[in-house]
Amino acid sequence: MVLEAAGRPLRWMEMASPEPGPGQVLLRVLACGVCRTDLHIVDGELREPKLPLVIGHQIVGTVAALGAGAERFAPGDRVGVPWLGWTCGVCVFCRSGRENLCDRARFTGYQIDGGYAEQAVADERFCFALPADYPDLQAAPLLCAGLIGFRALRLAGGGEPLGFYGFGAAAHILVQVARHEGRRVFAFTRPGDAAGQEFARRLGAAWSGGSGELPPEPLAAAILFAPAGELVPAALRATAKGGTVVCAGIHMSDIPSFPYHLLWNERVVRSVANLTRRDGEEFLALAPQVPVHTAVEVFPLEQANEALAALRSGRIQGAAVIAVGAR
Ligand SMILES: [Zn+2]
Ligand SMILES: [Zn+2]
Repeated sequence: MVLEAAGRPLRWMEMASPEPGPGQVLLRVLACGVCRTDLHIVDGELREPKLPLVIGHQIVGTVAALGAGAERFAPGDRVGVPWLGWTCGVCVFCRSGRENLCDRARFTGYQIDGGYAEQAVADERFCFALPADYPDLQAAPLLCAGLIGFRALRLAGGGEPLGFYGFGAAAHILVQVARHEGRRVFAFTRPGDAAGQEFARRLGAAWSGGSGELPPEPLAAAILFAPAGELVPAALRATAKGGTVVCAGIHMSDIPSFPYHLLWNERVVRSVANLTRRDGEEFLALAPQVPVHTAVEVFPLEQANEALAALRSGRIQGAAVIAVGAR
C-alpha cells in the first residue's frame, strides 16, 4: 500500500520484490502496527518522507533471505523492525548513547520503505528478536507504541500518580507497565469518551476522565500521547510542583500561550524523540514479565486506509494492526 504524495490515500500496487543489500535482511511481513506517526506522514505534517513510500514502522516479519554479510539472524527467524532504521554511528549523539538523536538517522516507513507490504528489507542491526510468547498481531504494537511509550515513561521519572493524556495504543500498554511497577495511572481521554474511559479503567487506570478535568490528586508526571498542543497547559495545571510533562508524539499542534505560574515551581516540559536499540531490548525483555497484553483491532493489508481512518477518528480501542501473513 503505497503513499505517492501527502494528502492522498494509500494505493494498492504491485511492486518488484526488494533486494536485501549488504547487512540487510529480506522479511516476509506477517503484521505491521498502525501508529499515529503514520497519520502525520500521510497528512504531510512530517515533511521529509521519501516518495513513493511504503509506511509502517512496527513490522513483525520472518527472515526470508540474507544480504551480503548479514549473519545475525537465520532464514525463518521471526524479528521485529522499529521506527529507528539506521544511524551513522559516528556523530556526537551516536557516540554518547543517544542514537535516537542521530544527526543522520533514517526511519522505517518514512525514509526507508516500511511494513504496509508483503515484503520489506531492514538493516539487521536495527531488528529485534521478539518474545516467543507473543502472537504476530499482538507483538506488532510493542514495537513503537510499547517501546517509545516505555522511553517516555522513563523520562517521566519514578513518581506517582502518573497522568496519561490520550488513551490509545501506547497508553494501553504503558498502564500495564506502570501498574507492574506499583504506580497508579490516571487516564485522560477526549471529553465525553465514556467508552475510552471505561477501557482505561478496565486495563487498570485508577481514575479516568476528560482531558479538561482535574484529577483527584496532583500528578507526579504526565505523558501526552495525543498530538494536541492545548494539552500542555492542561497537563501542567494537573501536575504537582517539580513534576514533568512529557510530550511523547513526533508532531503536535501549536501549544497555546499560558501563564508562567503553570510552569513555576520547577515543573518541566520535555519531548521524547524516537528510540535507541537499548530501549527496545529492555522493553521487549520486560513486556513478557509484566506480562503486557495488547488489545488489537485487525485490518487486512488492502484496508490500510480504513485502518488509518479508524485511528484518526478515535474508534480504535488499543492498537490497530495490519495483518499480512500473520498466523
Ligand atoms: Zn510509531
Ligand atoms: Zn549519528
